[in-house]
Amino acid sequence: MTSSLLEGCSRRQVLQLLAGSAACACCGSVHANKLAYDLAATEIASGTWAVHGSTEHFTLENGGNIVNVAFIEVPDGVVVVDTGPSRRYGEALLQLIEKTVPGKPVLRVYNTHHHPDHFLGNQVFKENIVAAPQQIIDNILSEGDGFADNMYRLVGDWMRGTASIAPTVALQDSTEEVGGRKFSLFYLSGHTSSDLVIRDDETGVVFSGDLAFYNRAPTTPHADINIWQESLQSIAVLDRELILPGHGLQDNTGESLEQTSDYLNWLHTSMQDATGLGLTMNEAMELPLPARFRSLDVVETEYKRSVVHMYLALEDELMPLLEPK
Ligand SMILES: [Zn+2]
Repeated sequence: MTSSLLEGCSRRQVLQLLAGSAACACCGSVHANKLAYDLAATEIASGTWAVHGSTEHFTLENGGNIVNVAFIEVPDGVVVVDTGPSRRYGEALLQLIEKTVPGKPVLRVYNTHHHPDHFLGNQVFKENIVAAPQQIIDNILSEGDGFADNMYRLVGDWMRGTASIAPTVALQDSTEEVGGRKFSLFYLSGHTSSDLVIRDDETGVVFSGDLAFYNRAPTTPHADINIWQESLQSIAVLDRELILPGHGLQDNTGESLEQTSDYLNWLHTSMQDATGLGLTMNEAMELPLPARFRSLDVVETEYKRSVVHMYLALEDELMPLLEPK
């Protein structure tokens, strides 16, 4: 697996991998069978449904559906957390919501961060209900088109008709009432430069976005590990009943936070040690994974992607050039 990671990839595909916005499609399968997401809603708390994606990388088979999306029935309508990887996904999500909660309008859509699997379904919702902190809006405006282009290359026809649409509502309050339900909003970061965490104050369900991964290796293309650790601590002390992570099953013990923190701590320390020892990037990629992480989904490839993302930056940080400026 290790030495064959990039086998069969074209130069362009390798460059896409190095760019870090998505996994490499050439390492996966190359035939899409059908373009139907077959979304299913799982009620994880009273009136709260998760739409679980797979815990894989983006592939032509899964159409980018590797993400957890959620919707909540509130007295006067429905609140949606994240919108999936494509317009087609957004349409399937709307149909699922209508089937599950018939006749109720979607009143609010939150985007937890600007990664493509979380917001590229935005365009099927009314623009004036899609909300995020200003930094997420800015990130989508500056990077969204590039993400969408990359997703087209990775999952192909699933993306047809998809456009990057940024939220129009800039959140800044610590709470908001939507359709008769109060939500608490936490403005965190670390997985990206802005990560929104939402708590439904009625049920105690916390939607962590990608600050928490559960039994799936975290992705780190835009990570600041130290800040991410602080954010995990902030989530850990919240009054809550349940966490829905961005990837993986729901978690009622907080284990997803501990697991994510443990992995990031190991990753960060390993990269610093490897840099200090003068290992090359390829040598760092071959470091053994601790046994406790080997069962995490896609950990082997995600670890290598993280080495790519983090190694050059760490080399610069830890071994600054001694040349005069
Ligand atoms: Zn993400």
